[in-house]
Amino acid sequence: MNQSQQSRQSVLDQIQLACEHVQRDPASVQLLAVSKTHPSQSLRKMYQAGQRSFGENYLQEALTKIDELQDLEIEWHFIGHVQRNKTKHLAEKFDWVHGVDRLIIAERLSIQRLESRKPLNICIQVNIDGQDSKDGCQPDEVAELVQHISQLPNIRLRGLMVIPAPENSAAFADAKTLFEQVRSQHARPQDWDTLSMGMSGDLDAAIAAGSTMVRVGTALFGARDYHH
Ligand SMILES: *Cc1c(COP(=O)(O)O)cnc(C)c1O
Repeated sequence: MNQSQQSRQSVLDQIQLACEHVQRDPASVQLLAVSKTHPSQSLRKMYQAGQRSFGENYLQEALTKIDELQDLEIEWHFIGHVQRNKTKHLAEKFDWVHGVDRLIIAERLSIQRLESRKPLNICIQVNIDGQDSKDGCQPDEVAELVQHISQLPNIRLRGLMVIPAPENSAAFADAKTLFEQVRSQHARPQDWDTLSMGMSGDLDAAIAAGSTMVRVGTALFGARDYHH
């Protein structure tokens, strides 16, 4: 096995073990490869190792990679903060957007999504543990957002995304509770199937609490050596 195959297999093994500990089906947890700061060539290798969904945080960087990798059948996820003036690119180029925390953003994405494409999958980002500097709506705003966003035409509202503070894995349980509570507000509850939480350092705790999608960067690609 090459390096990409090895690190991917070891993350998949970790997911499987975490699922076994809490009697969950490993197929109920999807692995999203977080590839920010890594060059297209690294994504290509990870694709060749079997990975299909990739998450990016920075729009310009992502657009370059999407262009360079258009020969591959990648499912692109945007997991960064969504700025209002960037929604057009997101609606046109991505399959998923995880960081939606205001109705206006979802409305713009719905309008800007081409009718010829599948609806854009989105998650509502929630500031689940009351961090000052974090993006995301407040937990008590989620029900109303679900009610409105789930009715937009070119959007499939899939669930919630959270990034709790490190060491605060109790927040994962709060996210799971909220996720179940607000399902009843959804216009199409069968679409409500995604709880995006858990990263390299805390994916076991996230899976134990009910994560259905872990976003893993470092454990797959190694340490990131520069920041934006
Ligand atoms: C960078 C990032 C990740 C991946 O973090 P690792 O610790 O490298 O696994 C996951 N989610 C979001 C939103 C990120 O920005």
